[in-house]
Amino acid sequence: MNNKILVTRSSMPDYEEYCEEIKELWDSHWLTNMGVKHQKFQAELETMLDVPHVTLYTNGHLALENVIAAMNLPRNGEVITTPFTFASTTHAIVRNGLIPVFCDIDPVDFTMDASKIESLITDKTCAIVPVHVYGNICNVEEIQRIADKYDLKVIYDAAHAFGVKYNGVSSACFGDASMFSFHATKVFNTIEGGAVCFKEDSLVQLLNDMKNFGIHGPESVEFVGGNAKMNEFQASMGLCNLRHLDEAIASRKNVVERYRSHLENVEGIQLSPVQKNVESNYAYFPVIFDEKKFGSSRNEVMAALAENGIGARKYFYPLTNTFECFHGQYDVNQTPVALHISKRVLTLPLYEELSLEDVDRICEVVLKCKK
Ligand SMILES: *Cc1c(COP(=O)(O)O)cnc(C)c1O
Repeated sequence: MNNKILVTRSSMPDYEEYCEEIKELWDSHWLTNMGVKHQKFQAELETMLDVPHVTLYTNGHLALENVIAAMNLPRNGEVITTPFTFASTTHAIVRNGLIPVFCDIDPVDFTMDASKIESLITDKTCAIVPVHVYGNICNVEEIQRIADKYDLKVIYDAAHAFGVKYNGVSSACFGDASMFSFHATKVFNTIEGGAVCFKEDSLVQLLNDMKNFGIHGPESVEFVGGNAKMNEFQASMGLCNLRHLDEAIASRKNVVERYRSHLENVEGIQLSPVQKNVESNYAYFPVIFDEKKFGSSRNEVMAALAENGIGARKYFYPLTNTFECFHGQYDVNQTPVALHISKRVLTLPLYEELSLEDVDRICEVVLKCKK
């Protein structure tokens, strides 16, 4: 039997490169609280993402929770969002005392179906939290038009969209703010980590205080904040991985193109097409299996892969509006497209170091399931 293939594998710099980067920390003994690595990494991201402000966090989830809190939305306000996402998106809304209202998704790119947003707006609606799922860019123009018309905040969960550009514009630049995750499993990682990107100057101090207990000055605590600071080791990992981001994305592109060459135009298989005017980061490779036409279900394909030592992930299944913790609160039939996709989707292994021979082997197993 061949070696196991996991669904993902973290990108890492050379051991020596990381050691060189963290050497200074042994001289300074300054390990966290916005030290030199934090400052340098933040500045590099502001340049690379072409956005006026970046605030760094210990993880993406707390970044999202904090930026939603910073928008000062009314308690029990309604937030239009998608159920086709990671738990974090919905939880960040609920943990802020807000009510998620689930909008269905587009059947082709799986982002929020912007044509369905307006019918969900009530006098309690205060914000929209869309997700650039798999790195596919949402219909940002239409979402902004609606937000302007109804005076709503827009906070993007851009956890999947680091390095993506739409019409040459960085994915960090849409809406009132965007959150990125730098978790180990993402295209770009700081071990764990996250960031909020935004244009509004007045948010800088608020977000910085919020992630540091609400401490504004040595003798001044202005509000009840939490702790969500990125430490110096995380920032150092970010500085190293950022140097190799272009190579990482180029390798992923080769992997995705190899997948497409095998799986495109196979009856019963739906792939997510490359979006027009989008420079992709090749974050995920989702495949939708139509059991009637393909002859095997998503679960059967996943089992066949597992038998061959290949990991795949039902990403995203279940939908967040069906989680046990929300039992009885939401009607999943309000989002039929999301439900349909979540029952049929499988994301195949995709990471920087995945060899094209392994992609061939994975596709061979998948195509053997075709009946
Ligand atoms: C990874 C992820 C998050 C949370 O990020 P963490 O850094 O793991 O806290 C949020 N939303 C989506 C869509 C994600 O994939």
